[in-house]
Amino acid sequence: MTTNQDLYETARDLMPGGVNSPVRAFGSVGGVPVSMVGGEGAYLTDAEGQQYVDLVGSWGPALLGHKHPAVIEAVHRAVDTGLGFGTSHPAEAKLAQLVRQRVPGAQMIRMVSTGTEATMTAIRLARGATGKNIVVKFAGCYHGHSDGLLAAAGSGVATLGLPGSAGVTAAQASETIVIEYNDRSALEQVFAEHGENIAAVITEATPANMGVVPPQEGFNAFIREITTRHGALMIFDEVMTGFRITEAGYWGASGRVEGWEPDIFTFGKVIGGGLPTAALAGRREIMEHLAPTGPVYHAGTLSGNPVAMAAGIATLENADAAVYQHIDEKSQVVADALSAALTDAGVDHTLQKVGSLFSVAFGTSQTGVHNYAEAQAQESFRYGPFFHSMLEQGVYLPPSVFEAWFLSAAHDDAAIGRILEALPAAAHAAAQAQPA
Ligand SMILES: *Cc1c(COP(=O)(O)O)cnc(C)c1O
Repeated sequence: MTTNQDLYETARDLMPGGVNSPVRAFGSVGGVPVSMVGGEGAYLTDAEGQQYVDLVGSWGPALLGHKHPAVIEAVHRAVDTGLGFGTSHPAEAKLAQLVRQRVPGAQMIRMVSTGTEATMTAIRLARGATGKNIVVKFAGCYHGHSDGLLAAAGSGVATLGLPGSAGVTAAQASETIVIEYNDRSALEQVFAEHGENIAAVITEATPANMGVVPPQEGFNAFIREITTRHGALMIFDEVMTGFRITEAGYWGASGRVEGWEPDIFTFGKVIGGGLPTAALAGRREIMEHLAPTGPVYHAGTLSGNPVAMAAGIATLENADAAVYQHIDEKSQVVADALSAALTDAGVDHTLQKVGSLFSVAFGTSQTGVHNYAEAQAQESFRYGPFFHSMLEQGVYLPPSVFEAWFLSAAHDDAAIGRILEALPAAAHAAAQAQPA
């Protein structure tokens, strides 16, 4: 049998860190990364034949669970007609239509291949449409790895403890102003000083790449209001939350209720149903600044790829109200059990939760976690032992305390039961953990 260890050693010789995306290397939790070879429903199977209840869900796309029959069938059908033609294809408008039915503010859509490409293009579009150059982002919000968005970027950057990234020039970074999340006065001050030059404020719909950090009441509406007042655009990054928090993303739980829309949405993860598709979308007069109708260039060999469109269409068509209700209910059960197990083991923590997305922050009950500074100040050393205890008991968690836990429609009572059974021992391991 090939072991995870063998595979890791081979991979480390061929690829930096043995991985193609840093968090997979288990850097912050230690140990040998697990190589998965199959997934079905709520479960993953590794190269050694071990089965795990999966709480990563491919980092979000697996909303319906792995290998959902309707998605697999749609992909098979698409594959049988050819893998892609580099031309227009009927499935592109079909997916765009499904998105707009859920999110009416997504009047026009451009399909891209990754969330990174979606936000990068959204920034270029905002600059092109406004003729301004500064972008404001929040510390700890992750918007993919394009140069200007890597300042204080949360996610893998936070996991590795890096301030940003080497290879990003001061000139690129200088056009991004970073302020703390949930800080209205910082936002007011930035607009007071630079208002004329600000092209856009980009925000995660609800941050979930520094652990989950809920927006304070009215914070997104405040971003909407201040950007409108200064002629800047609001870019609402729903790459993680889109079609996951509600059928209309986090906007469905906030903007729709409060009566506002961002100028540009970005989507990824669920929209591709597990294949590489993402999108930017927004008001017609803004989106028409994109080539070929406008002067802001964007193109993609694989944009709107028919096989990826098929996976996205089948996923959205099957993500009905029952799916969201199920995920909401089950995530509440797991989050409550997680918090209870930690409390029983005497581990100080806050349970951070927005809709069905949640994470835990250790040693933060005094302050709570409202921003990146508070997220980083937590006792993150407790997560490695917690993670490995869960792993040994057959539960695959995100290998970083700064990532959200993802449930799916396939997490039935049996899968949830296995998670609940594993929590007390893991909480005990977290209680015993010592700082490095
Ligand atoms: C995952 C993520 C991205 C980047 O998407 P990729 O497909 O990994 O490039 C951007 N924004 C948010 C909020 C994300 O969670």
